[in-house]
Order: sequence, then structure tokens, then C-alpha cells
Amino acid sequence: MEQKENINLLGLNKLSLARLLKNIGEKEFRSDQLIKWIHKHNYDSFEKMSNISLNLKKKLTEISHIKSIPLKDEYISKDKTIKWIFNIDKNNAIETVYIPTKTRRTLCISSQVGCAVNCSFCSTGKQGFNRNLSTHEIIGQLWFAKKAINNLQNNDFFGFKSLNINNNNIITNVVMMGMGEPLLNYDQLLPALNLMLDDNAYGLSRRKITVSTSGIIPMIYKLAKDCPVSLAISLHAPNNNLRDILMPINIKYPIEELLNACETYVRYSPKNFITFEYCMIKNVNDSKMHAYELINILKNLNCKINIIPFNSFPNSKFECSDENTISDFVNILSQAGLITTIRKTRGDDIYAACGQLAGNVQDKTKITFINKSKEFL
Ligand code: SAH
Ligand code: SF4
Repeated sequence: MEQKENINLLGLNKLSLARLLKNIGEKEFRSDQLIKWIHKHNYDSFEKMSNISLNLKKKLTEISHIKSIPLKDEYISKDKTIKWIFNIDKNNAIETVYIPTKTRRTLCISSQVGCAVNCSFCSTGKQGFNRNLSTHEIIGQLWFAKKAINNLQNNDFFGFKSLNINNNNIITNVVMMGMGEPLLNYDQLLPALNLMLDDNAYGLSRRKITVSTSGIIPMIYKLAKDCPVSLAISLHAPNNNLRDILMPINIKYPIEELLNACETYVRYSPKNFITFEYCMIKNVNDSKMHAYELINILKNLNCKINIIPFNSFPNSKFECSDENTISDFVNILSQAGLITTIRKTRGDDIYAACGQLAGNVQDKTKITFINKSKEFL
């Protein structure tokens, strides 16, 4: 007889859970109660769920479970950034990063094991691609982090005691800026976003969830309709010639079309602007000319620019631009009226900064080989 799959409830949003409950002859409203126990209270067994009947607990135990992804390692930076490495299976691992400050506590989540987009300046891209994460593996990172941080917070590890930080605001922001291209894993991402927004689960506002993308244009339009959260675009070059080289996805989805998609997205976005990420790479994309080109392409769009000093990683052939070059670049953009900020590097001593996440990826695409044959700089 065919064995039925045992479902991990961690990965079910309200709609899917209600459907499952209906299928086993239960009231759909119980989905809210279950979601609350699982995500708000971090329960991983049905036993202590006080408003769930014994009969339902028995039925659920037969067909489902609640299980977070297994932790492999935890690294804590001197600046209190925390990086967790999770075993996805025997040969693959992904990374999640918690970045605490007094005003916001951000969790940076992975969406794929590796990344097939293959940007030349990114450690994740260099690893190649293995597979998409499923919804329970995406939301599982948030589930795990909340639990782990709460334990640390009880010992006032972060020095937050005076700030009235509790279970509900221990993570204030989520950024889909870990390993992978979230918009190439759209079907698994969407229910995870729903759970982040669900008041019975994590209750984050749309403004406080950011999807960062290399520019998968059709999916930007789709996200605008399905679940408009804040959007960040990894731009990194002001013209197609350079962007084609740094980010090969640009050959398929060039800058002009990407900016059109952004213009549409702004109309749906919870913020009235799009964030453009621009990584400063020495002698590659950091000249004054590049700044002027950037002004030219962005001047008619409601946007902010987030400058990221390039973070190096083993075997990377790039270097970070000098401090003076970065400040000249920022000044040119600011003087032209573009709101520009420099992203503070966090957790670089534990390889947790932007672009440094590598996890452990058994490459299925042979990207690493292609990379080697395409050395261009
Ligand atoms: N795939 C998505 C999200 C993950 S990357 C995307 O590309 O947007 C998160 C951010 O880090 C992106 O803006 C990415 O371009 C940037 N990044 C990648 N490698 C980097 C590096 N070595 N130094 C600084 N930023 C980097
Ligand atoms: Fe993938 Fe983003 Fe890295 Fe490019 S920058 S390789 S899209 S994770």
C-alpha cells in the first residue's frame, strides 16, 4: 500500500492548514489556533496545545509533525550578529543571520541551497545551486531564530533588558537576503511570506519584510499582485554592459525592463520607494562616471540607494572600493537628490556579512566549472 506523506505543519500557511483540517473533518477556524501554538509559542508538539481537543491531537499526530531544520553550527560575532548553519540534508547546509541593533532586530533568511544566478561577486553564487528550500525550511529559520534568541535574551546576552523586548518584537524585520534568489523559488516563498504577515504567527507588517532580488522581472510583477512587501533590487551596475558581466541574469532581464517593473511595483509597495542595492567593487563599478550613469537611470523613479561595501570571501577576485571612493560616490548621488545610505557591515568576523554566506552546497549545475572558464577580470 502506498505510504502517505507525513506533513510538516511548520510549512503550512492559514489557507493550507484550513484545507487540511477540512479534509480530516475538522472546523477550519482551528487553523488560527494551531498557527498560534506553532509560530507564536514555538511549540513543536501537540501535547500542550490547551484549546485543541484530544481527538484532533490524535488525528494530527497520525498525519503530521512539527519539526524545525536541524542546527549544525552557531557562530556569534563580536558585534553580536549571530550566524546559524542548518543541515538541509546530508550534504547540504544553509545559513541564517540575526543582526540586532537597539532600534531593529533583523533576521536574514535563505531561500535556496546555493544560487543559480551566478553573480561574479557573490560567495553564494560561486557555490553553485543544489535545490529550492521548501516553505517549512524557509519559515523554519524564523521559527528557530525566535526560539534561540529568546533563550539568549533571557540571559540579557544582547543588553536589551531596558528596551522592553519580548517574544513579539525580538525579530522586528525579515530580509530575504540570505543564500539564494527568492523570486526563483516563488511557490515556496509565498506561503512563508503569508506566515510572516499572519497576526497569529509572526505578525510583521509588509514594510518590515524585504524581498531582495537580482531582478527576476516576471516574478516582480507577480509579487506586486500576490503579496506586496518591501522590495530591494540588487543593481550593482548602472549599464547593461557591466551588469551583463557582473550579474548574468541581466542578459535575460536587462536594466530598462527591470526599471519598468520597479515603477509598477512602487504602486503596490507598502513603501513608496524601491531600494537599490549597489555593491562597491574597486575599479569595477565605483567610478564617478558610474555614479553619474546611476543618477541618469534612477532619477525618475521613487527609490533609495543602499551602498554595500564589497565583502570579500575566500578566492574572490574582487576588492572593496577605498573609503574615499565610496564617500565620493555617495556624495555625487546625494547631491543629485538620490537618498543614499551606506550599509554597515555586520558579522564579517564570522563570514555573516552580505555576499559571504556559503553554507555547504553540492552543486548540481556545474556553475563553478562555468565560472572558471569565464574569468573576465
Ligand atoms: N539573491 C538575492 C538576495 C541575496 S543577496 C539578491 O541578489 O538580491 C543579498 C545582497 O548581498 C544582494 O544585494 C547581493 O547582491 C549582495 N552581495 C552579494 N555578494 C556580495 C559581496 N561579496 N559583498 C557585498 N554584497 C554582496
Ligand atoms: Fe544569487 Fe543574489 Fe548571490 Fe546573485 S547576489 S548569486 S542572485 S544570492
